[in-house]
Amino acid sequence: MSNSPQSDPSCLFCKISDGRIPSQRIYADDFCTAFLDINPVNHGHVLIVPRHHHKDITELPSEVASQVAKVLPILAKAVVRATGADGFNVIINNGAVAGQTIFHGHWHIIPRFHDDSVNWPWPHSDYSGDQIHQIAFAIERELRSIQDLS
Ligand code: 5GP
Ligand code: ZN
Repeated sequence: MSNSPQSDPSCLFCKISDGRIPSQRIYADDFCTAFLDINPVNHGHVLIVPRHHHKDITELPSEVASQVAKVLPILAKAVVRATGADGFNVIINNGAVAGQTIFHGHWHIIPRFHDDSVNWPWPHSDYSGDQIHQIAFAIERELRSIQDLS
């Protein structure tokens, strides 16, 4: 369970969610809002932002996560139709090391075009020996201790 405040007065996305800072909003419900990223990777780049302050998605109450999961495919379909995109990426940056710059968890929907100049995909590595079993075992053990999948 998260101890996050409902709104952090110093948080940009709280201010945008509250309407204290303007944004080009495309969607809103009781749990989240969606608006255009001000510096888009491609035009039509949308951010889905929970209304209340949670620093990243591991802090989200399940009802908020559920609502985002429900609306995300619909928003993505609208983005693709509106932009004529050939596809899209859904990205979540969690933590500075992963590229998060606004510490109010959020989802990116980035429309993609065959001729765009986005440097993607990222490189892949591999496992050797028993590594894949060990990491799977460690994750499953943590899941059992969290037990928040209901
Ligand atoms: P992050 O790097 O944290 O995953 O994503 C933050 C995103 O917020 C960036 O893509 C950035 O362009 C966007 N952003 C930063 N400031 C503003 C703003 O004032 N308004 C809007 N609409 N987007 C912003
Ligand atoms: Zn916030």
